[in-house]
Amino acid sequence: MLSRIARGISSSPTLAISAKAKQMKSEGVDIIGFGAGEPDFGTPQHIKDAAIQAINEEFTKYTPVPGIPELKEAICTKLKNDNGLHYGPDQIVISNGAKHSLANAFAVLLDPGDEVIVPAPYWVTYPELVKLCHGKPVIIDTTAEDGFKLTVAHLEKAVTAKTKALILNSPSNPTGRIYLEEELKAIADFAVEKGIFVISDEIYEKLVYGKNKHLSIASFNDQIKALTIVINGVSKSYAMTGWRIGYSASAAELSKAMGNIQSHQTSNANSIAQKAAHAALSGSQDCVQEMCRAFDNRRRFMVERIRKIPLLEAIEPEGAFYLFVSVEGLINRSYAGKVITGGDDFAEYLLEHFAVAVVSGSAFGAPNYIRLSYATSMENIERGLERIEKFVCSCT
Ligand SMILES: *Cc1c(COP(=O)(O)O)cnc(C)c1O
Repeated sequence: MLSRIARGISSSPTLAISAKAKQMKSEGVDIIGFGAGEPDFGTPQHIKDAAIQAINEEFTKYTPVPGIPELKEAICTKLKNDNGLHYGPDQIVISNGAKHSLANAFAVLLDPGDEVIVPAPYWVTYPELVKLCHGKPVIIDTTAEDGFKLTVAHLEKAVTAKTKALILNSPSNPTGRIYLEEELKAIADFAVEKGIFVISDEIYEKLVYGKNKHLSIASFNDQIKALTIVINGVSKSYAMTGWRIGYSASAAELSKAMGNIQSHQTSNANSIAQKAAHAALSGSQDCVQEMCRAFDNRRRFMVERIRKIPLLEAIEPEGAFYLFVSVEGLINRSYAGKVITGGDDFAEYLLEHFAVAVVSGSAFGAPNYIRLSYATSMENIERGLERIEKFVCSCT
């Protein structure tokens, strides 16, 4: 009954464990969750006020498909000031979240059988979106030794006559790693030489810690800019995941095509949420700083705390709000007579016996890892890590 495409798409593997965690919670178990993929803060008041005003002013009708002019202008200003990127409003398409912008990007780039290079660990959605657009995801495993980053050496091995695009996500979900200028430059030169498009998912650009800096790959020169589709949005920076506003910036030919596709699939993004996103981008950025500082405190606490737990190895995050932890040291050890073969077992036993929910790295193409989100309170982090330590120390 189902199409080949539909049969080829997996459900989100992170959902099974969160469903189980929810069920345990409803049964009264004191669950500590490290699964959250969204900020635990409320949306800042001035952003909510803009939405309320939009409703009261009856800003409740269709807008132009690629977005309202004032939000497009605010996005152009942001790209110029933060990223040194000069785009005109006709190069911006506002969509129902960055995820939707990614779907639009693959829809306009891919013909059946076109290959897209996806570095692993990857955000779960990338390979599935490529498949939905009849493309073929080509997964490239990166390692802790590479800092979990794609290199030209990887690309040279992976590239074929069918390679149409590659995906970059910096800062990365799930590893929290950030590409350095020279690393991006090397990839940019390679992409220009081969004429490969770059989908640059920069959704975590504002959540960057310490001396680390975010740089957009599109900013080196006009050639790479013409090949790049910059993806961004307000979900993560402004605690606005539910509002569903993301956007792309690209060559005008691509943005026009994305607008055409969106015009038939969803039309404009929510009119009220567009007004709210405009307030987010054009208002004071103090709220972003505040949230970023809180994430940074939790990040430093967690890295230090995990380093005191034997057999676990934390990858120090430079951005985003996830800690990626290797459980390789526990492989072939057992808990309550059951052997741990990787992140899946670790996550399952930890939830069942210690009521702590984490996401297995297998969801991201890295089965010997787990991902812990620090978009949760310091109190939860402290209690959760105590339990994780108990669990690890009782494995034999
Ligand atoms: C959360 C997330 C997105 C999607 O964000 P929305 O704008 O809410 O659709 C995109 N990419 C990555 C890597 C994410 O973690």
